[in-house]
Amino acid sequence: MSINIAIDGPAGAGKSTIAKLIARKLNYIYVDTGAMYRAMGLFFMEKGFSPDDETAINGACGEADISIAYENGSQQVYLNGKNVTDRLRTEEAGKWASATSKYSAVRAKLVEMQQKIAASENVVMDGRDIGTVVLPGADLKIYLTASAETRARRRFQELTEKGIPCKIEEIEQDIRNRDYQDMHRENSPLKKAEDAVCLDSSHMSIEEVAGTIIGYLSGTDGEKQKKGTDA
Ligand code: C5P
Repeated sequence: MSINIAIDGPAGAGKSTIAKLIARKLNYIYVDTGAMYRAMGLFFMEKGFSPDDETAINGACGEADISIAYENGSQQVYLNGKNVTDRLRTEEAGKWASATSKYSAVRAKLVEMQQKIAASENVVMDGRDIGTVVLPGADLKIYLTASAETRARRRFQELTEKGIPCKIEEIEQDIRNRDYQDMHRENSPLKKAEDAVCLDSSHMSIEEVAGTIIGYLSGTDGEKQKKGTDA
C-alpha cells in the first residue's frame, strides 16, 4: 500500500519547497497539483476564453490533455504533448489557475489524475484540497500557512533574485485576492481538513518545517504498518 502525505495551504506558504524537500529525503514522488491547474489555466487563456465563461471552460476540458512526467526527479507538465513546465510559475498562469480552478469539470479531471498517481506511488502531494477531497485517507495531512505579509515578502525576494521587476504591495494584494478566491469558492474551497496538523511557517526555517513533518510521519507511518498487519 502506498504512503501519502497531503500538504494544503494558501499561496506562498512554502508548500512546494517543503514538499519537494520531504519527498527527496523520503524518496517519495512530489506531486505539484497547482502546476496542473496552472497548465489548465494556460490552455483556457490560449483558447481566448474569458475566465468567467464557465460553460466554455467546462466544455473544453476534454480537449486539454494534461500529463506529468519526472525528469531527474523534477515534475514536468505536458499540455497536449508540449512541455509547458517553464511557463507555469508566472503570475499570469497563477491568476488563470485560480480563476478557473473553481469549475467542476476542471477539478473532476485533475482530481482523478491525482488520485491515480497516489494509489500506486508514495507521494508528497501539495495543493488546496488534497487532505479534504483528493486524499481524504492520507497517512499524514498538513495545513501549512504563514501571514500574508511573510508570504508576499518571500515571493518578492524570489522574483527579485530572478531579476523580475515587481512591487511588494502588488504581490501582497494578489496573494490576498487568490486566498479569497480559493477559500470562498463553492467547489472544494481551501480549508484545513479536520484531521490535518496546522503549521505556521512564518517564523520557521524550511529545514525546521520539513523536520517537523517527517517527525509526525514516523508516528503515523508506524500506525499504518500496524493497521496493515492487523487487517
Ligand atoms: O499552488 P499554486 O499557486 O501553484 O496553485 C495555483 C492555483 O491553482 C491556486 O490558486 C488554486 O486556485 C488552484 N489549485 C487548486 N487546487 C489544488 C492546487 C491548486 O484549486 N489542489
